[in-house]
Amino acid sequence: MAEVDWVAVARSLAPRFAARAARHDREGSFPFENFAELRAAGVLSMTVPRAFGGGAASLADFLRLQEEIARGDGSTALALMMHLKTFGQERESPSFPPEWLERIARGAVEHGWLVNSVATEEGLGSPAGGGLPATAALRVEGGWEIDGRKTFTTLAPLLHYFVVLARVDQPDGAASQLANFVLLRDDPGLRVEETWDSLGMRATGSHDLVLEHVRVPADRFLNNRGAGSFGARGAAGMVWFALGVAATTIGVATAARDYAVAYARERTPTSQRTIREYPGVRTRIARVDLLLQRSRALLWDAARAWEERSPEGMAPVDRVVVAKIDTLNNCVEAVDLAMRVVGGVSLQRSRPIERYFRDVRAGLHNPPLEDRALETLARAALDDPASNTG
Ligand SMILES: Cc1cc2nc3c(=O)[nH]c(=O)nc-3n(C[C@H](O)[C@H](O)[C@H](O)COP(=O)(O)OP(=O)(O)OC[C@H]3O[C@@H](n4cnc5c(N)ncnc54)[C@H](O)[C@@H]3O)c2cc1C
Repeated sequence: MAEVDWVAVARSLAPRFAARAARHDREGSFPFENFAELRAAGVLSMTVPRAFGGGAASLADFLRLQEEIARGDGSTALALMMHLKTFGQERESPSFPPEWLERIARGAVEHGWLVNSVATEEGLGSPAGGGLPATAALRVEGGWEIDGRKTFTTLAPLLHYFVVLARVDQPDGAASQLANFVLLRDDPGLRVEETWDSLGMRATGSHDLVLEHVRVPADRFLNNRGAGSFGARGAAGMVWFALGVAATTIGVATAARDYAVAYARERTPTSQRTIREYPGVRTRIARVDLLLQRSRALLWDAARAWEERSPEGMAPVDRVVVAKIDTLNNCVEAVDLAMRVVGGVSLQRSRPIERYFRDVRAGLHNPPLEDRALETLARAALDDPASNTG
């Protein structure tokens, strides 16, 4: 397969997504048309292994594409990221049985079918906190029966493969395990309840998934692990996800920056100077660019350190965590500054900057989360005598 210029592909799609973004945001509707166009452009299989007909795009290409798509529409980019990262993670650190990886991969290549992890629950919060899900998988004759309710099921309106995290209680009082099962859209007992009505990323379709006596054959079991341990894919799972969130967020903040710059160049209140001449406006725009440049530098440093498994300085996986946390904080601040440049009209729902202000915050609540990440760094610095890599 010839090398694809994924940035060019994303730049051709992003303006079309931007034109639809306000409507989907207002309605909370899912951008099916965007995903049809992503499929036609080959994006839905860009990270799929080559062996199954995919593009096997690198981590760097994936991140560049995410940023560009997010400049058009943050919701489309975040939802797309959830699907694309699955194959990047599996290429680096396989956790699915090979026959399921092939089936899911070929589904993406041949039909544009989407996959995502469905882990979070109302009572559990993020499983990264170490808790056990209430969703339970029970061994029954010939397979499993799964019951539960999941929240934040991004891409729910279009998902074909739901990778569902459930508890599997063990006999004789042994500790319960966490297991992933692949469920299919037409499995009896599986339904999506359209509950997603959020402040930001409103067009991601992150609804509830309801599972009532869903009976599946034994081969739907993908993997398992002990509660509280790292995800089944280890650090590779975290890296593609965390940097994907960071790149998406940089894209949203860059769209806000571009809006504020264009506005400042044009806006000339009656009988006055163009606002770009005011020192306060100039300083704020400069600070926005500083924050965005710092975010990109951290993102690319972390991606490079991870790809090279760099032995220098802070461990690559910790650099990824730092990049995600700092990028999110920088981008939230950058959009806040851009809003102040635009002034009072930045609050108008008719202007896209109002949407950027809401969308940019969402990644704060995707793992790795700040408190847990800071504790991990503190532990490495303070409690691990072998570590002196800060
Ligand atoms: C737009 C969007 C899309 C999403 N898509 C998906 C998806 O597709 N699939 C999916 O499974 N999930 C998804 N999520 C859910 C997300 O990954 C989190 O699980 C969810 O936001 C809840 O996590 P939380 O940490 O805020 O909640 P909680 O775990 O309830 O935590 C609440 C607060 O307590 C703190 N806290 C909790 N435990 C600890 C601890 N052990 N140590 C220190 N502090 C702690 C947290 O930092 C947080 O501040 C999505 C979230 C968003 C916002």
